[in-house]
Amino acid sequence: MLLLTEYSAMQNIRYFDNAATTLIRKEALDAYNNTALEYMGNPSANHREGFKAHTLLEDCRKSIALHLNAKPEQIFFTSGATEAISIVFASLLWAKTPGEVIVSAIEHEAVLSWASILKEKGWNFRTIKAKGGFVNPEELKAMISRETKLIAVQAVNNVTGAIQDIPALVKAVREKEAELGRKIFFFSDSVQALGKIDLDLKKLDIDGASFSAHKISGPRGIGALYLKKGDIQSLAKAGGQEKGVRGGTENLPAIKAFETALDLCAASANDVKEIYDSVRSLLEDAGIKVLSPKENTSPFILSITTPLPAEVMTRMLIDEGFCVSSGSACSNNAKGKGEGVILAMGYTARDAAGTIRISFCHESNKEEAENLAKTIISKVRSFK
Ligand code: PLP
Repeated sequence: MLLLTEYSAMQNIRYFDNAATTLIRKEALDAYNNTALEYMGNPSANHREGFKAHTLLEDCRKSIALHLNAKPEQIFFTSGATEAISIVFASLLWAKTPGEVIVSAIEHEAVLSWASILKEKGWNFRTIKAKGGFVNPEELKAMISRETKLIAVQAVNNVTGAIQDIPALVKAVREKEAELGRKIFFFSDSVQALGKIDLDLKKLDIDGASFSAHKISGPRGIGALYLKKGDIQSLAKAGGQEKGVRGGTENLPAIKAFETALDLCAASANDVKEIYDSVRSLLEDAGIKVLSPKENTSPFILSITTPLPAEVMTRMLIDEGFCVSSGSACSNNAKGKGEGVILAMGYTARDAAGTIRISFCHESNKEEAENLAKTIISKVRSFK
């Protein structure tokens, strides 16, 4: 069988859109195939094959929990981050009286799309600015009111790679909780953080988080929800799988592949930093404006802006075999949303219109990445 990395080399695909999705890595694909072939039972079934599948399911849960410094019973498998986020936001609909939700203005659409639903149900859905890419803890604290029930601030931004100061934000929320004498649920969409930056959920003291396997060279359609306390109302109770938080037969091959991909992340994280640093300095030295913050930023995502409209630049790069995303294409179905992130950071509409996102995976190749930077530089120079 042809490896996917070999396939992309044969097709001259030089892929730098890993924040959108990644190629599944060989080990994860093997784990998927082996599990699909060797585990015929449903983990809930009451026979030998069912017990065998149940054991593997719980082993994977333990292993993933260990990576996150969480307890296995705090991890619930879902079809991805969108579903994990939806379980948390939908749980608000059980509240007897609507309250207030505060989310950062640079959240992914999977979070922001809840605005219309919650507003329709009488909730106050507020967004907090992220000037320069970061939510300010004092500003957040000042915004919290007696009505605030849930706060959502992502761990790593999917357009710029900005790493939020989650410990400081949680501290601000906990102080306000003490003042109000009432609990506030702190949720952090951690899709772009998983396997890429340190994530110690116990230390972070957040109440919920979402994860997705396809951003870390695992399969698509599998992810997880972390809940500090699992007592959440859910629409999809079904047969009580995942303790009724997410019913339905667990996708065991994908879960095993997810666990395998996560296991392999830690080993290669430093190489990516080397690639990132090299590409960033090549671009900066050539006078190209980098939008990703200088500090507290993920080495997996680099956003730049050029005088060329992003769609034109991405087309030109496609002709050379490179896949990157235009600022708006991190969520192509919701065109312009990536630009929204750039504007919310305080950049101009022109900067937003020229935004290109380059994103790496654990298997990215340094030489190819440097070639990408050089190609961008030459396209910009020929445009002038
Ligand atoms: N949150 C962030 C920050 C993302 O980058 C993505 C992926 O695009 C999602 C949520 C949605 O993840 P999934 O595709 O697993 O539903």
